[in-house]
Amino acid sequence: MEVFLAQPRGFCAGVVRAIEIVERALQKYGPPVYVRHEIVHNKYVVESLKKKGAIFVEDLSEVPAKAVTVFSAHGVAKSVEEEAEARDLPVLNATCPLVTKVHNQGKRYISRGRALILIGHAGHPEVEGTMGQVPGPVLLVQSVQDVAELRLPTDAPVAYITQTTLSVDDTRDIIAALQAKFTDIQGPDIRDICYATQNRQSAVRDLSKLVDVILVVGAANSSNSNRLREIGTEVGVASYLVADGSELNSDWLKDAKAVGITAGASAPEVLVDDVIEALRRIGPVSVSVVPGREENIEFRLPAELTAG
Ligand code: SF4
Repeated sequence: MEVFLAQPRGFCAGVVRAIEIVERALQKYGPPVYVRHEIVHNKYVVESLKKKGAIFVEDLSEVPAKAVTVFSAHGVAKSVEEEAEARDLPVLNATCPLVTKVHNQGKRYISRGRALILIGHAGHPEVEGTMGQVPGPVLLVQSVQDVAELRLPTDAPVAYITQTTLSVDDTRDIIAALQAKFTDIQGPDIRDICYATQNRQSAVRDLSKLVDVILVVGAANSSNSNRLREIGTEVGVASYLVADGSELNSDWLKDAKAVGITAGASAPEVLVDDVIEALRRIGPVSVSVVPGREENIEFRLPAELTAG
């Protein structure tokens, strides 16, 4: 069986930075270090950090006094920052700089008196963080249908921002619907879908031309991994999300001559290797990488972790 690996796939710069923040904090301050929410949406990553002494919590009330606390890559609401400050917790903020950029755009639009619309998935931590960062009401839309149901005068000044990990196509349709509905609408110059999401989505499209089945390595709660699987399905290739090799189902591959593998931005390469190993247990495989975009983006770490 031929196996094609998408390029790029797996870790993005925001995820690399977030994991490094926890690792360096553990080295500098010693365990335990508390992390609010999964640092990135991947069980393997979370379990490895737990072994090194990270403790994951969903609520700051679970963090003891004075304990070093890390906010996850998805960002947090202002109220969470304020609670940490009120409790005097030493905080390291691992929010991806591209998510912070969306927060700042939202704040700018609200300060200019515009009604703010966020295109995103209800309940996702990034969406909750963004809604809780901007000082004003935020209207969340998840579909073109939601746009039709928005109860705002069509000549109201509005602006939109988007979750960083959506599918480029879905967002395009929703933005088009917003622009058709509102006469005075503004949006970011460059859309907020982040570079890593866009690159992984176009790589999965390229991959789909070569293969009969696509395996997306990623967690069930990872937004960008789910979008990769959806894109594969939309272009007509049977696509499955697997956390690791143990989730591979040989029935999926019965008639497949070529299998494509990609990985969400929070999935480490070791899990891609694990899936390849699982394929090898079914039969001989030859692995090649599909040529794609090279990424060389790096985000700076917080100053307290780089000094001294
Ligand atoms: S997927 Fe994009 S926005 Fe999210 S952490 Fe990675 S680089 Fe940042």
